[in-house]
Amino acid sequence: MSTEEICRGCGRCMPCPAGIKISDCARMNLFLRGESFEEYLTEEWKTKMKRIENCLRCNLCKGRCPHRLDIPNLLIRNYEEYKTFI
Ligand code: SF4
Ligand code: SF4
Repeated sequence: MSTEEICRGCGRCMPCPAGIKISDCARMNLFLRGESFEEYLTEEWKTKMKRIENCLRCNLCKGRCPHRLDIPNLLIRNYEEYKTFI
């Protein structure tokens, strides 16, 4: 994971029309590497992450991210890794 692919959690990409909490979900790969990773495996977080499946690929978020992250693909990568933990 290069630094260019790291979400800073600023939230400027939202709101998302699919209801995805991008600023949390795009940082899951970071959360999962922390000591408190189990906090992110609750039903509430599972529901939040599952919303990534509803991404419309509208790219509204991409246009708003000051770091020019490829958010839809970043979300998918985070979700794929998350599923290996649950
Ligand atoms: S591309 Fe996906 S994550 Fe981004 S704003 Fe559209 S629906 Fe939301
Ligand atoms: S705008 Fe970019 S850096 Fe900020 S929360 Fe959204 S994806 Fe992360």
